[in-house]
Amino acid sequence: MQKKCSRCGSDMEVVLRNVVYRKRVRILNVPVHVCVDDECAHSQVVDVVKEDLKSLMEELGQDPARQAIEFEEMSELSHLLVLIANEGDSTVSEALGERVNELLDLFLLAQSLGDEKWMLELRHRLTKIMV
Ligand SMILES: [Zn+2]
Repeated sequence: MQKKCSRCGSDMEVVLRNVVYRKRVRILNVPVHVCVDDECAHSQVVDVVKEDLKSLMEELGQDPARQAIEFEEMSELSHLLVLIANEGDSTVSEALGERVNELLDLFLLAQSLGDEKWMLELRHRLTKIMV
C-alpha cells in the first residue's frame, strides 16, 4: 500500500526537500512525498512529520527573522532519512528505506482509521530505527 498521488494516482516517493516559510526561513531536509510522474510532480509533506513542522512554524511565528533551520535536528524521521541518504552502502540504505516506507504506509493506514494510539506507536517505532 504505497502512497498514491492524490492528483494523478501515480506512486509517490519520499525525498528530502527544503521548504521556505514566510519567504525568510529556509527549513532544510523536510521529508516530502513527491509524485514519480514528472509532468504532475505533485508534492506534499510526509504526514508523520506534519506535526513537527507545524509546531516549528508556530514557534517561528508570523514574522520570523531570516534564517536557515535544519529540520533533522527536530524531527527524528527527517534525521533518519538524512542518515539513509548519506549512507554509502546502498544495500544498507535500501533496506532501511524499505523499512521506513513500510512504517510510513502503516502510519497512513492508522491515520485513515483515525487510530491515534496506533499512530503514536508508529511514530515511536519510526524514531527507533537508527543506524
Ligand atoms: Zn501525480
